[in-house]
Amino acid sequence: MSEELHYDLVVVGGGPAGSSAAFAAAKNGIKVALIEKEDSIAETVRTSGVTWIQNIKEFGIPDDCFNPIKNFSFCSPNNQVTISDTIPRAAVLDVRKTYRWLATEAEKAGADIFVKTNIKDVIKNEKGDIVGVTGIRPSGKITFNAKVVIDASGFPSTVCKAMEFAPQWERFGAGAEYEVKAENVDSDTWWLMVGQEYSPAGYAWIFPLGDNIVRIGVGVGKPESNVDPTQRLKEIMQKKLGPIKKLGKITEIEFHYGLIPNDGLSRKTVFNNLILVGDSAGQANPLVLEGIRYAIKFGRVAGKVASDAIIDGNTGEKALYAYEENWRKDIESKINSAGKVQDRWIGLTDDEWDKELDIIKELKSEEFIDFIKADFGLSNMLKLATHHPKLAVRQLFNLVKGKK
Ligand SMILES: Cc1cc2nc3c(=O)[nH]c(=O)nc-3n(C[C@H](O)[C@H](O)[C@H](O)COP(=O)(O)OP(=O)(O)OC[C@H]3O[C@@H](n4cnc5c(N)ncnc54)[C@H](O)[C@@H]3O)c2cc1C
Repeated sequence: MSEELHYDLVVVGGGPAGSSAAFAAAKNGIKVALIEKEDSIAETVRTSGVTWIQNIKEFGIPDDCFNPIKNFSFCSPNNQVTISDTIPRAAVLDVRKTYRWLATEAEKAGADIFVKTNIKDVIKNEKGDIVGVTGIRPSGKITFNAKVVIDASGFPSTVCKAMEFAPQWERFGAGAEYEVKAENVDSDTWWLMVGQEYSPAGYAWIFPLGDNIVRIGVGVGKPESNVDPTQRLKEIMQKKLGPIKKLGKITEIEFHYGLIPNDGLSRKTVFNNLILVGDSAGQANPLVLEGIRYAIKFGRVAGKVASDAIIDGNTGEKALYAYEENWRKDIESKINSAGKVQDRWIGLTDDEWDKELDIIKELKSEEFIDFIKADFGLSNMLKLATHHPKLAVRQLFNLVKGKK
């Protein structure tokens, strides 16, 4: 059986970007479809879910969706540092609960949610502009006609690729993770583990969720390394490497795997009748491969700009450009700076990582958080680069600002 529907806005992908776009657009009074290929929202978890409490509060995400973190521990082969904050500023999300809350907010605002609907292709008008998408549901083929389409399909960028607007990402991160129950967990401390044995181009992590549950994972930069993150994760868990040993007996609950683009902000994200947002637009901090807060924030901007354009009756690229202008102004220079630090980190040997941790040890908690969040405000970084007592720290901040 085939079905044909008409919407003002069609959002492809029920992740944080898609649900947030659908929420903002539906709130603005237009007719919105949010489309997800899986059986339910967040059926498959593809992320570790670390984010920042300030952003959680801004978005209105409920308190029972996250575990607060106030200690940040790092270890390299022969060094270790813990930076402690007085109040928790970071958080590990209950990803399923959070993503489902975001989708429910969209539904409450009036969006129609279609699950089990896999979008496969686009519909174009005589000028070649997108005017809808087609997909497959259990009941057969489905066609969605739309004035604007938002591609929030994440890494695969389904709509963007069907329009032949961009090829597959060349540089990306691959991550594997087990959510486990462990015997001994410090629930307000996260661990980042660096060096060749953990990951030759990336890092490993332990992120606590509360109730003695932690996520243990390995991320590997591609194409820099051909190591399989799943294999490496199994090896480090078997060896009980570094802080994994302290967790004691481990019982696996669930396996997660995902890919995240790392090509910088290379993609154009607005076209006639089309917006790209979230991972589909490459909006991620390359330093720690963090994208959830950008997906939510710019998802909302995309939904607002698209719905305003639909209400005005002009959905051309120029009318949608306010969206691209908004996110580039917010994060472009920060992401470029984070890319410079990532290039430095990817090349470090084990000895050099031991020394890098000595630099990290010098940072105050708020300096460290700005750094890891890629909050490289110019005046902030210049102050640090000029006034920090240790030369090595000054050099790191100078690198961020592009000085020798
Ligand atoms: C291993 C790993 C760890 C990470 N850890 C963190 C972290 O700790 N903190 C952080 O902030 N970020 C992290 N990220 C990044 C973060 O997960 C992403 O930036 C974020 O999920 C992007 O949201 P999104 O909505 O753009 O895409 P996604 O979350 O990927 O959502 C896309 C949705 O679209 C659906 N979809 C795809 N194709 C179609 C189709 N054809 N038809 C219909 N639906 C479709 C998918 O099923 C999915 O539900 C991590 C990424 C990886 C890979």
